Amino acid sequence: MTDWTSRATALYDGGFRPMFINGQWVSAVSGEVMEARNPATGALLATVPKGGAADIDAAVRAARRAFEGPWSKFTPFERQALLLRIAERFEAEWEDLCLSDTLDMGMPIARTLGNARRVLGMLRFYAGQAVAIHGQTIPNSFPGEILSQTVREPIGVVGAIIPWNAPIAGSVWKIAPALATGCTVVLKPSEEASLTVLMIARLMAEAGLPEGVLNVVTGTGADAGAALAVHPDVDKIVFTGSTATGQAIARAATGTLKHVSLELGGKSPVIICRDADIDKAVPVAAMAVFANSGQICIAGSRLFVAREIHDDFVTRVADYAAKLRIGDGIAPETEIGPIISARQSQRIEGFLTTGLQEGAKTYTGGTRLDLPGLEGGNFIAPTVFGAVTDEMTIAREEIFGPVISAMPFDTLDEVVQRANATPYGLAAGIFTTHLGTAHKLSRRIRAGSVWVNMYHAIDPAVPFGGMKMSGYGREGGLEHLGEYLETKAIWINTD
Ligand code: NAD
Repeated sequence: MTDWTSRATALYDGGFRPMFINGQWVSAVSGEVMEARNPATGALLATVPKGGAADIDAAVRAARRAFEGPWSKFTPFERQALLLRIAERFEAEWEDLCLSDTLDMGMPIARTLGNARRVLGMLRFYAGQAVAIHGQTIPNSFPGEILSQTVREPIGVVGAIIPWNAPIAGSVWKIAPALATGCTVVLKPSEEASLTVLMIARLMAEAGLPEGVLNVVTGTGADAGAALAVHPDVDKIVFTGSTATGQAIARAATGTLKHVSLELGGKSPVIICRDADIDKAVPVAAMAVFANSGQICIAGSRLFVAREIHDDFVTRVADYAAKLRIGDGIAPETEIGPIISARQSQRIEGFLTTGLQEGAKTYTGGTRLDLPGLEGGNFIAPTVFGAVTDEMTIAREEIFGPVISAMPFDTLDEVVQRANATPYGLAAGIFTTHLGTAHKLSRRIRAGSVWVNMYHAIDPAVPFGGMKMSGYGREGGLEHLGEYLETKAIWINTD
């Protein structure tokens, strides 16, 4: 059996981890550092540079040089081969990558290890796409021999900004299509979880990525992130994070009319119809929120249950939640890990208090947990609230924590209207054994992904993204490549 604890000590010993600019491992120009702490224990894992505007500028210049220089000479087949080599490096180091994520942001090791199919799949899917990008020859209305054709060119230097809740998948989903299309990248990971992204940069460099093609600048959103969003030589910002930050980034990018795509927050509905297979629906509805301690953009945090089965169903979800094993994610049996930071934990506790004040009833949880031996960590009990109404704060705002707000409904028309009555539109779950209901409801819910009798399915080949204030643009699938490409029309007078 893997001894994760000794491997953890070998991986991070509290020392300094530089960031990656122009193929070099460097400190911040300011010399400032930030601490990376394990959210389960509070232990110091490492320090990383606190990059700012000067570091972002150096990284953007390196990315521009690479884009116009050596990287532009790579053929699509060479970019494909490189992506496949990166996938092999990732596969060889997969356990360390997962361990790094578990230590840095708390996701249970059993869960991170299970993401291999998806992450390696992303690299290999986009490797395949690298050689399939092409334009068209288009008939036109001009008399004579005038040829018109399109070519699809890489958009240029991409600024990628990601949150802390899934550093491996989050960064690969932005880097892989950028490499496939011939773009270069400046990636700003979250200040809460930089370490795995630095490891990813190392693995990519070891696989042969030329200098400047991927640059990782660690730092805060207010400094490094904001500097990237306004940098005049960045052609596109791809952002995943909260809706408020997405709005700030969209505003910042307006000054230079950068292209922007935004994967933002959600308040996703899960609808349990009267005819649902309850035994199957209970664990899925519970884990639609509790996976990653609720720190997941697609968390199905509004649980709408047909009134006839509401009490029984919610009680069963609460029983399931109460049995989940909570602890340090490094223990293989842990199902629910910590909350990323004390600040985030206090924010969630605020929602728990507000929920009770506004009249919700606690089925289970509702409190912070102080776990023996993990006093420096941040843990919240998986919580199920009943007697929730649509107007309550816990039914409207994204909590980003392990909290389900359960509500009864009477008719399908009513539940569609209530499910859609949110500014968000990221995801939804529907549980029914009736084929017609599955079809009708999935078409009527305004969300980028709708899962029927399942939840959480995300695949490299299938588009993922939000509607309304959950953002715009799609990741995954063929559409995603278009986010990194410009179409150019070329006219040739052949007379
Ligand atoms: P956040 O918005 O606070 O931070 C995300 C990133 O933006 C971080 O790297 C941060 O440093 C940076 N940032 C912050 N302020 C900035 C600014 N002014 N300019 C530029 N960059 C800035 O989000 P978070 O707390 O790290 O993550 C949680 C949020 O992310 C939730 O709302 C969640 O729903 C969302 N999320 C969405 C998806 C999705 O695919 N739709 C996936 C994961 C997380």
